[in-house]
Amino acid sequence: MISAKNLQKSFGKNQVLKGIDTEIKQGEVVVVIGPSGSGKSTFLRCLNRLEEVTGGEILFEGKPITDKKHNIDKTREKMGMVFQQFNLFPHKTVLDNITLAPTKLLGLSKAEADKRAESLLQSVGLEDKKNAYPAQLSGGQKQRIAIVRALAMQPHVMLFDEPTSALDPEMVGEVLDVMKKLAEDGMTMVIVTHEMGFAREVGDRILFMDGGVIVEEGTPEEVFGAPKNARTQDFLSKVL
Ligand code: ADP
Ligand code: MG
Repeated sequence: MISAKNLQKSFGKNQVLKGIDTEIKQGEVVVVIGPSGSGKSTFLRCLNRLEEVTGGEILFEGKPITDKKHNIDKTREKMGMVFQQFNLFPHKTVLDNITLAPTKLLGLSKAEADKRAESLLQSVGLEDKKNAYPAQLSGGQKQRIAIVRALAMQPHVMLFDEPTSALDPEMVGEVLDVMKKLAEDGMTMVIVTHEMGFAREVGDRILFMDGGVIVEEGTPEEVFGAPKNARTQDFLSKVL
């Protein structure tokens, strides 16, 4: 579904991604781990061109989306993204947060979009919050709403950048549970996280990044059970 070929990204003279090669298959859950500053967020943001790559290319469903002529807006509709900081619109209700993009970009009627939103809200146990404003919700609720908002576009892939890092510990589980259910339903997902238990349980493949490259990749059993690279071993010894 996604293929990154020799992906490079520099900010000025600072080369942050130094040639990333990987493929994400339909239905696959890929978890990206690695130390702070290793380029995980930049990699994720390059996948939907929130950052413009400075070298290499990305194919999405066979199309070179890094080509300057490619209409990235249409492609972004198929790539849902969830951030650490929720990014909900504060002056809109939960329902309006969720229905905005489907009505504006997909041309759904408000009634159709409401129906879709309500069914998604029900699936994450928040149907009673549809008329609430973001400030009235807990962090865990806000993040579940952010996930629902992305899902309302019926994306082909979901990108998550540390979705639980800003949450109080007791709210991490409710968000991970939603993600786990999505994975079980077959959603293609790329997830940057420090939740190693989740990575091990839900990931089909683990990418360990350090210094702008993928140092090691494999199944959770391979990477967590028997890391080959010294940098992976060092990182895991600190976080596990
Ligand atoms: P990670 O998500 O693994 O912590 P990032 O991808 O956020 O790492 O950052 C990797 C490096 O890229 C860091 O050194 C960071 O300072 C730099 N960087 C990220 N975004 C920008 C930006 N918009 N402008 C300049 N430098 C950036
Ligand atoms: Mg990051």
